[in-house]
Amino acid sequence: MKMNQFVIIGLGRFGASIGKELIELGYEVLGVDRDEEKVQEMSGILTHAVIADATDEDTLRSIGARNFDCGVVAIGDDVQASILAAILLKELGVKKVVAKAVSELHGRVLERMDVDRVIYPERDMGIRVAHQLVSPNLLDYIELSDKYTIAELGVPACLAGKSIEETNPRGRYGCSIVALNKPKGMIVAPTATDTLAEGDVMVVIGTNEQIEAFQDAIG
Ligand code: ATP
Ligand code: ATP
Ligand code: CA
Repeated sequence: MKMNQFVIIGLGRFGASIGKELIELGYEVLGVDRDEEKVQEMSGILTHAVIADATDEDTLRSIGARNFDCGVVAIGDDVQASILAAILLKELGVKKVVAKAVSELHGRVLERMDVDRVIYPERDMGIRVAHQLVSPNLLDYIELSDKYTIAELGVPACLAGKSIEETNPRGRYGCSIVALNKPKGMIVAPTATDTLAEGDVMVVIGTNEQIEAFQDAIG
């Protein structure tokens, strides 16, 4: 199902950032906040922004919340308000409800309420930054499962000028370079003779251990 119209409850840093990006991507966004100042800041940016208390059922009804494909509950500190807003959006029939959790317990409650996706921005960003701090070449990664990861690794000086064959991460560590991003463009499925230059980005797939071993060897 394609999402077209979004309602964002809470225009703090997290909600405002989601809203701005959705607008950039060409979608319609209604922002809701009980704080007039937040609504004013976002009124020129979002499709609509209204001052409203999202824990009030009649209010949500009157702003037509049920017509939205997706609702994002981006209220943090007020856990009660977050939970009430999430359940009201679900009950009004918003197809997909996504909510931010500020603690594990808050997240567990949201998950029990059948919220479609619970996000832990501070926790997850903290984990990501920790990985990047210990592995200077690690630019980004996606965990495919408990076991497998795709990582973007910057090519360090020690690999500059070497071919993929000479570097041989598959033979040495078991992980494969599935793409090589160079300033001139992306080489998808590079071959043994493609060469690495400092600053290129290798997209590597393998088990966590294989990727760690490769990173340790080049880090
Ligand atoms: P961030 O980290 O994204 O800046 P936060 O986690 O600190 O936000 P809050 O500041 O608690 O979260 O909430 C984000 C926004 O949600 C605030 O602008 C606040 O006014 C708004 N908000 C809180 N409760 C409600 C409510 N019941 N109805 C509408 N908006 C609300
Ligand atoms: P987050 O969103 O990551 O939970 P936040 O943006 O809401 O955090 P704060 O809660 O203000 O930020 O600060 C995070 C932590 O930093 C708190 O535990 C606070 O006690 C601590 N802290 C704030 N100021 C100082 C300081 N001057 N020295 C040491 N610790 C501090
Ligand atoms: Ca916060």
